[in-house]
Amino acid sequence: MKIGVDLGGTTVGIGIIDDDHSIKSSGSFRTAGITETSGLIETVINGIDETVSRSGIPFECIDFIGMGCPGEVDAVSGIACHADNLPLENTPFGPILSERFHKPVRIDNDANCAAWGEHIAGVSKNCSNVVTVTLGTGIGGGVIIDGKILHGNENHAGEIGHMVIDIHGKRCGCGRIGCWETVASTRALTNEVETQAKYAPNSRLGRLIAENGGHANGKTLFIALNEDDNMARSIFNDWIRFLEVGMWNIINIFRPEMIVISGGISNEGDTIILPLRAAVGKCSTIIEAGKLGGKAGMIGASTLYLCD
Ligand SMILES: [Zn+2]
Repeated sequence: MKIGVDLGGTTVGIGIIDDDHSIKSSGSFRTAGITETSGLIETVINGIDETVSRSGIPFECIDFIGMGCPGEVDAVSGIACHADNLPLENTPFGPILSERFHKPVRIDNDANCAAWGEHIAGVSKNCSNVVTVTLGTGIGGGVIIDGKILHGNENHAGEIGHMVIDIHGKRCGCGRIGCWETVASTRALTNEVETQAKYAPNSRLGRLIAENGGHANGKTLFIALNEDDNMARSIFNDWIRFLEVGMWNIINIFRPEMIVISGGISNEGDTIILPLRAAVGKCSTIIEAGKLGGKAGMIGASTLYLCD
């Protein structure tokens, strides 16, 4: 049995995971509002203790702990170097957990863990070269080349959301103009839905947004799309076009066997996957939706011992 920890800015998910990669027991603990590193470490340690004791599984049966962290992570030394949304600054999280629980520990970036999870136990199981694209507020990436996670210099590889695809585009959170995530993330899509619906409050999208307290969410567009709404179709087609451009850049740089689309929006399945497959055409790269959903990071973390 392994423990997989998925550390995020809102919660930390902790799972006890069998050697066949199924989750036996899990817990979720709040991290939002924690401002001190010590408080964050305590939350993770107590969360592990609580999850194990609630599961009834003896601690001796656990032989590995893996953790995915946001931001920059030095996987070799187990140091969480920096994260924008958590108090992590050169925090030796790996050594701290190892000393506390007397188990081997590995940590890595959260997007890398999600990519690794799909690679070990999910949709890209039999592929040695895979790029996983996580669509959410931003666009994250995990790149696996020859069966290994690509970390790059100072662990900064795989920031695919920040490849520029429009030099006349919008300002990105990273400071540059026209990054992929400014136009192709889930947030970019919901922003576009809200902007266009503002001028057409009586449209289907306008009414859906009004019913949802004035905001679009990840599902708003797809509800209207299923009803064959014209405005929804036009917003969706533009968004898919932006996704395609980035996909092709990834294909040209890495030529992976598979690109895995993960993140909540991948639940829309064929609606997103089929147009992307059509755009890629006869290229040998296969486009698939992730199979592990929101658990990819946790499962991936629990299998980081297979990285060597
Ligand atoms: Zn950027």
